[in-house]
Amino acid sequence: MTARMGTARLGPAERFDALSRLGSQEFDVVVVGGGVVGAGVALDAATRGLSVGLVEARDFASGTSSRSSKLIHGGLRYLEQLNFDLVREALQERSLLLQRIAPHLVRPVPFLFPLTHVGWERPYVGAGLVLYDTLGFSLGFTRGVPGHRHLSRKRALRLAPALKRAAFTGAVQYWDAQVDDARYVMTLLRTAATYGAQVASRAQVVGFLREGERVTGVRVCDLETGVELDVRARQVVNATGVWTDDIQDLVGGRGQINVKASKGIHLLVPRDRIHSVTGIILRTEKSVLFVIPWGRHWIIGTTDTAWTLDKAHPAASRTDIDYVLDHVNAVLSVPLTRDDVEGVYAGLRPLLKGESEQTSKLSREHVVTHPVPGLVMVAGGKFTTYRKMAADAVNAVAHGLDLRVPPSCTDRIPLAGAEGYQALWNSRYRLAESSGLHVARIEHLLQRYGSMIDEVLVLIEGDPTLAHPLAGADDYLRAEIVYAATHEGARHLNDVLTRRTHISIETFHRGLAVAEEVAELLAPPLGWDGEQVKREIEYYTKRVEAERASQEQDTDQEADAIQMGAPEIVPVATPDPT
Ligand SMILES: Cc1cc2nc3c(=O)[nH]c(=O)nc-3n(C[C@H](O)[C@H](O)[C@H](O)COP(=O)(O)OP(=O)(O)OC[C@H]3O[C@@H](n4cnc5c(N)ncnc54)[C@H](O)[C@@H]3O)c2cc1C
Repeated sequence: MTARMGTARLGPAERFDALSRLGSQEFDVVVVGGGVVGAGVALDAATRGLSVGLVEARDFASGTSSRSSKLIHGGLRYLEQLNFDLVREALQERSLLLQRIAPHLVRPVPFLFPLTHVGWERPYVGAGLVLYDTLGFSLGFTRGVPGHRHLSRKRALRLAPALKRAAFTGAVQYWDAQVDDARYVMTLLRTAATYGAQVASRAQVVGFLREGERVTGVRVCDLETGVELDVRARQVVNATGVWTDDIQDLVGGRGQINVKASKGIHLLVPRDRIHSVTGIILRTEKSVLFVIPWGRHWIIGTTDTAWTLDKAHPAASRTDIDYVLDHVNAVLSVPLTRDDVEGVYAGLRPLLKGESEQTSKLSREHVVTHPVPGLVMVAGGKFTTYRKMAADAVNAVAHGLDLRVPPSCTDRIPLAGAEGYQALWNSRYRLAESSGLHVARIEHLLQRYGSMIDEVLVLIEGDPTLAHPLAGADDYLRAEIVYAATHEGARHLNDVLTRRTHISIETFHRGLAVAEEVAELLAPPLGWDGEQVKREIEYYTKRVEAERASQEQDTDQEADAIQMGAPEIVPVATPDPT
């Protein structure tokens, strides 16, 4: 179907193989953390010719990198803070990601900026958007999204009839880009693995190997089996986001980086609850609130409050949810209620500790340090600029290696599925005909797998029942569930319902109605017996129940206490295949 080099799979056998190599070989670089930054570092290092290992304690992207607003953007509010360099850098990345690196995963999205003041506001916002659009051009590339336009209230209401007439005086529409953050990270990791990186999830760093002061590797616990292994590395990169300080503690040194967590929550509501063909951005007292189109849903968020409790499962409280509903309802003619909320998720921003105590004012820029020989730390930044962070971190690695390391080339490395995507998109009707799937399904698959769609279609050829949608989450085909286990590193039911798909936030039942069907589909590729299937469903159910109950609590402390009650690790009875 397409001419592309074979993309690495991240199935159970590949994880087993990666762990045995991690335990037996010395690597140039070992990366701790499988979020967007760690994955970016792995790809950057592998494409510079270095030998690379990466270990992630839980599922890939299960930290902050699956819990963002899912925007690839410069950040209008940083413009207001006069942080032009940050905005320029992010917009250049947006252009690159849209047009070369991941056109299958990153796509333009329009936003309406309602104006509430007569007179000064239109020229002020308009001037900001002229600058935003201009900064979006990067060397050799167009902006990748249309420019902004001014709208009267009447024209704005035609695009967004859901808006309350009295809530605004006119509007400006501008464009940014959006991404499925969790899938992006997994695709980055598959790309890194294709270039030789050895990556393993559920592999937690529990200590460091030292020769005197120098770090010479990490001690890793395979959380599926409890077995510990020593992974030797010339340089270790700590890319653990809000866990940065914990890793710093493990290495025993005084930290050079202090990361503070700031919680942000998002709600999902069905698309028909807000009548609009454009996203909306609203000013709030602290920051901004986005209403973002997301398939058959809207994502609405976010909040910005300091968080000092459990980092693995940050909880959204009733207070957080009411805050978001109150702010969006201020501009909607038919207000949303809690009954409209299909899903809720919370994430923690890894902010570099600064002078100001107000988290929304803390820096989104990143830092790279080399606190002791053999260890590089990278933290801060945002999803959009992960590639720059990764390049800076690998520059620091190169400095620590006695090798000549070529400069970063990831600006010229399309991610797995990007090559050939445009041609396949243009042929989608033919593809629909030959596969027997509706063209809407082909579009959905192309925007998730790009040119790797052929691997999903092969599964369907082998078993036509995999062409059926899931009963209870019909946006997804049964084949996608199997593929998540065989190719995308999913190890548990939660990985599939929360990150390979987003059924956990896109349905009112939050995945419970499909848990059994999905677990049965995962059983053969993951080697589960009936007991394991039952256990997976039970653990997932407890997690959903805990999340629902926590969202009824008024305070973070109460919400966190309930989340902590749900068990974290699903024990695995069956060994990995050899
Ligand atoms: C609410 C919210 C909205 C946001 N919206 C946007 C947006 O729209 N656009 C944008 O550009 N950015 C956005 N961001 C910021 C962006 O999401 C983050 O900057 C980015 O995802 C951080 O990635 P990371 O790799 O540093 O951290 P993470 O994704 O948290 O990755 C760190 C990983 O390290 C692992 N780990 C921890 N300890 C260990 C250990 N001992 N051993 C092995 N692994 C370990 C964790 O499990 C985790 O997976 C948002 C953030 C939040 C919270």
